[in-house]
Amino acid sequence: MSIADNIQRVQERIANACARSGRHPSEVTLVAVTKQQTVDAMLAAVAAGLQQLGENRVEEAAVKIPQVAATATQPVTWHMVGHIQSRKAKQVVPLFDLAQSVDSLRLAQRLSRLAQARGRDFPVLLEINVSGEASKYGLVGYNWHNDEAVRQQLWQEVSAIMALPSLDVRGLMTMAPFGAEERIIRRVFADMSALRESLDANLPVLSMGMTDDFTIAIEEGATMIRVGRAIFGERK
Ligand SMILES: *Cc1c(COP(=O)(O)O)cnc(C)c1O
Repeated sequence: MSIADNIQRVQERIANACARSGRHPSEVTLVAVTKQQTVDAMLAAVAAGLQQLGENRVEEAAVKIPQVAATATQPVTWHMVGHIQSRKAKQVVPLFDLAQSVDSLRLAQRLSRLAQARGRDFPVLLEINVSGEASKYGLVGYNWHNDEAVRQQLWQEVSAIMALPSLDVRGLMTMAPFGAEERIIRRVFADMSALRESLDANLPVLSMGMTDDFTIAIEEGATMIRVGRAIFGERK
């Protein structure tokens, strides 16, 4: 299967998941996650019509983004989807069009200062850990429904971040627990949808769902999915 064929299959699965849940495919943005992929593979995805690409490591992106941008036939919007170490934040703002993985107030403050210095607004999503897995980054959102302390802390962090200058908070991002049962994954995604509504702020983007779970994510309200392997094949 070629990359173009794979993209078509993913788009069909998006359309089917939308049909099942009474949504329109235009409500779901597909971000191709290109970590560990070659520049040629990335160009093939762009040629097949994808204009949103995501990378998870600054070093790798700093090499590939200029190469793809120089050759791509269409403009590409670049998403940072991986954890951002403090000392790498400086490179993120000039390199990427948005960061999906803002997982602390400290990082948000840093990005805000960097964006201000460049005289631009930098769009971000706030990564929330609702699954409770210790291995996952994100603002703590585990059990927010039942835990008043978690809720207070999270609400405070989100409003502090939304008040920062030059940071354009567009929505929320999360990752489902790896290899969990569908029932658990669905609950995590439903929980994120409820959290977004509950925050009662202008947060149009809900980024959730990857190769193994994007159809579930769409059924539970994702407006953005991040797909790597279903497009490019297994990573080495
Ligand atoms: C790698 C990655 C993805 C894509 O994962 P696949 O399973 O290859 O679809 C999505 N989001 C993040 C944050 C990732 O690191």
